[in-house]
Amino acid sequence: MALEIKILDYGDIELESSFLVLGRDCGRVRRVPVYGFLILGGTWPVLVDTGYRDNAIMESLGMRGLQYHENMIENQLARHGLKPGDIRYVLHTHLHIDHAGKDDHFPMNTTVVINRRELEYSVSGIMHPQYPAPDIKHLIDRLHTPNALRLLDLEIGGPLEIMPGMAVEAAGAHTEGSMNVHVETAEGLATICGDVIYDFNDQIVEPFRQTQEMEPQVTGNHGTSKRQEKAAIKKLLNSSRFLLPVHDKPARIEAQQVVARLDMEVPGPTLQSVPRRNWFPA
Ligand SMILES: [Zn+2]
Repeated sequence: MALEIKILDYGDIELESSFLVLGRDCGRVRRVPVYGFLILGGTWPVLVDTGYRDNAIMESLGMRGLQYHENMIENQLARHGLKPGDIRYVLHTHLHIDHAGKDDHFPMNTTVVINRRELEYSVSGIMHPQYPAPDIKHLIDRLHTPNALRLLDLEIGGPLEIMPGMAVEAAGAHTEGSMNVHVETAEGLATICGDVIYDFNDQIVEPFRQTQEMEPQVTGNHGTSKRQEKAAIKKLLNSSRFLLPVHDKPARIEAQQVVARLDMEVPGPTLQSVPRRNWFPA
């Protein structure tokens, strides 16, 4: 079954540049988008990630939220003729502040799907400022409501089908419980990869301060080891035709390299081609 991914625009955030790419432009501010992903053409409409609660909550991390009326989740869904109650599943790549802030806009019979390890990690205290109390408390309400929450054990059970053409898998990076969402499209496998990748250009196309061949740079915000971060990025580049992170435009991948960037849908038109890097100059 060929599915389609429509990108929802939940507004931008401004944050310190080296938070996104380790060591880059320390002290300088960058503005990045926050996306969600609507998967259409399957058994049900499914949504991946819900953005941040409001502009004020981003200040708890010293960041600036730029969410306007058009970015409200109801308005983003309405562009595709849907209301929150039409969504069967809300999946989360992980539960950080900018990914699970609007779950309380969905009725309890829309089931939220997360990796159990991520719920545990969110209350472990390890990265806790990035897991705001109102978001996590809402998930605990769901935990105590029949069928409002579905917990997965991806590290143990391996990849799991959510519906025909769509499966989830432990990401092994960014946070201890992050998961990737694989979607079969008419043009090949597309993977929504959360924050395992923040910035295609500075991490993969021209990786910041890397001297080895095809060695990605890690982000400045990871809860696993740098070795795990690098391996998780290489695995994504090796396995999917399209990669869709939450804070950068999607990329088309060939032979483990970024060859094009797309805009707000996958499959969709090419926004720009990316010249292949010659790792073996004459
Ligand atoms: Zn994020």
